Amino acid sequence: MTAFWTEPDFDDHELVQLVHDRASGLTAIIALHSTHLGPGAGGTRFWHYPEPKDAIRDVLRLSRGMSYKNAMAGLPMGGGKAVILADKDPSKTPEILSAFGDAVDALDGRYVTAEDVGISEADMVAVSQRTRFVSGLPVSGEDAAGGDPGPFTAMGIYHGIKAAVQHKLGKDSVENVHVAIQGIGSVGGGVARLLAHDGAKLTLSDINEDRAKALASELDGEFAAPDAIMGVQCDVFSPNALGAILDDEGIARLDAPIVAGGANNQLARQGHGQMLADRGILYAPDYVINAGGIISVAMEYLCKKDGTPCDINEVRKRIAQIPGRLEEIWQESDSSGVSSDAVADRMAQKLIGR
Ligand code: NAD
Repeated sequence: MTAFWTEPDFDDHELVQLVHDRASGLTAIIALHSTHLGPGAGGTRFWHYPEPKDAIRDVLRLSRGMSYKNAMAGLPMGGGKAVILADKDPSKTPEILSAFGDAVDALDGRYVTAEDVGISEADMVAVSQRTRFVSGLPVSGEDAAGGDPGPFTAMGIYHGIKAAVQHKLGKDSVENVHVAIQGIGSVGGGVARLLAHDGAKLTLSDINEDRAKALASELDGEFAAPDAIMGVQCDVFSPNALGAILDDEGIARLDAPIVAGGANNQLARQGHGQMLADRGILYAPDYVINAGGIISVAMEYLCKKDGTPCDINEVRKRIAQIPGRLEEIWQESDSSGVSSDAVADRMAQKLIGR
């Protein structure tokens, strides 16, 4: 059997820690890809993985993605991520969250955690009882930055979609631009509302079909079944559910000139970015366009550490810089012929000294 540190996904991680706490039943993996720019920051995912190797692969890919995301967002943070391995019938107990908080605390600030799929703001409050290396905690007051990162991620994707529409279609507005959204949870739902406000034409899909139908009707959009959304003829396909959907089959089904959405690790493997480019599809690298949430999380953490109030306008200002970064990547891609994901990877690797 090959050692997992020889696997491509390992990619020179600084630390991969398996945490097991018999008393609470916690099994978790904490991965720190790079602390070159600062403490590794990235959320915790609570998920049932059929095989332990799936959890290892997921945490390694997500952690490297956080290194790239934080670097490209101009944050003084490195990349890290944690997964808590849930049972088939997941039960998230206070004891599991406390034991996880202790594990984060033992790393003494090398890793800063926050919400990810399956983890709520309330869960982070529970973790924060055991460690101060946590962010994404509830905030009071409209002008305070922080809290649930989902709406900030949605805001960045909305800006990114507008930039993609300008770059690829030459349009200054998304009015009447048709966007098909896969997944209308915290991020996808927020993107849908922002686009609807600007008069975009929406097709929405979610495995929670009732929720998608209700939002489609509220926003004057259409509903598409989960197995049909990737083939919808539209201007922008926006993936906001889970990763690895851009594989051979998924890319062949696309009928859109732009892919721009918030899901992490959208490309099933590296070559799929080139496959999109070969089909003439403009791709917004996921970790660049979906950085809004980590910008908020990082600003909240850094302000708390310094004891200064965190201004939401500073967070908004940084999120508004996402389109400029995407434009830089697309221009470099257009002039070099290198696919946009590979251009972004090279930029990020340079920033983290690799
Ligand atoms: P969420 O759990 O609130 O929403 C995900 C939605 O996708 C749910 O409504 C779910 O029913 C739906 N879904 C799952 N599988 C689907 C499928 N096959 N087809 C259609 N819908 C499906 O999660 P979220 O916070 O909105 O995150 C969405 C994605 O964005 C994830 O990949 C996450 O890692 C990524 N992301 C989130 C943030 C954030 O701030 N929340 C930041 C960066 C990246």
